[in-house]
Amino acid sequence: MLTAITGVNWGDEGKGRMVDLLSRDYDIVVRYQGGNNAGHTVKNERGKFVLNLLPSGILRPEVVCVMGAGMVIDPAHLKKEIAALRAQGVKVGPENLKISDRATLCMPYHVAEDALEEDRLAKTGSQFGSTRRGIAYAYGDKYMKKTLRMGDLLNLDAALRQRLATIVEWKGLTMERVYGAPAPDLEELWAWCGEYAREFGDYICDAGAYLDGADRAGKKILFEAQLGALRDIDYGIYPYTSSSSVIGAYAPIGAGIPGRRLDRSIGVMKAYSSCVGEGPFAAEQAMTEAEKHALREAGHEYGAATGRPRRVGPFDVVASRYGAACQGADELALTLLDVLDYMERIPVVEAYEVGGEVTARFPMGGALAAAKPVVKYLPGWKCGISACRSWAALPAPAREYVEYLERAVGRPIRYISVGAERDAYLVKE
Ligand code: GDP
Ligand code: MG
Repeated sequence: MLTAITGVNWGDEGKGRMVDLLSRDYDIVVRYQGGNNAGHTVKNERGKFVLNLLPSGILRPEVVCVMGAGMVIDPAHLKKEIAALRAQGVKVGPENLKISDRATLCMPYHVAEDALEEDRLAKTGSQFGSTRRGIAYAYGDKYMKKTLRMGDLLNLDAALRQRLATIVEWKGLTMERVYGAPAPDLEELWAWCGEYAREFGDYICDAGAYLDGADRAGKKILFEAQLGALRDIDYGIYPYTSSSSVIGAYAPIGAGIPGRRLDRSIGVMKAYSSCVGEGPFAAEQAMTEAEKHALREAGHEYGAATGRPRRVGPFDVVASRYGAACQGADELALTLLDVLDYMERIPVVEAYEVGGEVTARFPMGGALAAAKPVVKYLPGWKCGISACRSWAALPAPAREYVEYLERAVGRPIRYISVGAERDAYLVKE
């Protein structure tokens, strides 16, 4: 059985938390896109973990994790992330972690280029709000066919060295002549490749063949997305998107079994809106600065990967309906509902007004930038719900809020998360 857990909004919906919970019923968890710009925070009986590259299934010893072909992997970051997890008592080895030989390598010069370009743009206030981890540059070079893949580390021969030399020469032109920065050094990079070949040689494999065999043997496979639909390279708020396809339909492709179809798609949707970095975000206009500050504090809305304060606003029906449709979500997991406990009345963005016309459709480009939120208020519940473990135990206004979201987005809400801990959730009957 193939299931995807994807983000319906702008990311940080609590996908890691849902994967940690639902992976108890799965044999394998696969990340299928993105890099270490992800920040998935998981709290369970073993502690608090922040995962950037590793699938959230790594916290369950009986689950095998796969880093798929669609990912961009910075091996230096991966080494640090694994060391930090081991220090917290998590077992990571080639038995429970497989790295696709097709995954793209994020090189040190990608990270350098990301920072140089963000700094250049920042001089005119045109920065993207990049996480500066080189992800866009690694994906860019992947599509230019000018980079190496993880499997290349298994075969560091003369031909590969020659290919790297050609790439380094080309990259040096950009670094020196565009940015006045040092060109990458072939010897240094060759040694870097050798170091990570030794570190990860035993983990790198044909992950597609592994997943194909596992699927045929009846194993249950869970795909874990990074970011949300509104950050998708094709369907998101381009150019303020990620550089990869975060869409559920891409999961089997990015994982390594491109011919398969999902059996089930679970969209993770947040009870309010948050957004890291730049870009159009109509929902934030629906609250005063003081209201946004209160929401940010209640939801601890500071990025897991960067520590940056996240932009916040009320739940956005227009964006979430679009996001859930992009994800092909059969059902939804609503997260962070408890964050709204303090609210007297709860604002939601019901529609957008664009150029004097009210629309329920999620627009692009200039129309999206010009969109003004049409706000409606629902009654708050004004009490703590984190201890609720059943639908019936939720206060009536909370049930009404959930039912409103369900109708507005047009897809069933199955799971409701009322806290960050593993067991702080309930299933809506
Ligand atoms: P991801 O990137 O989608 O995996 O989400 P993040 O981990 O970046 O952000 C979600 C944050 O909310 C994390 O700090 C979680 O621990 C926390 N969280 C997840 N679900 C809930 C919930 O239902 N209630 C509360 N209060 N916190 C939650
Ligand atoms: Mg996150």
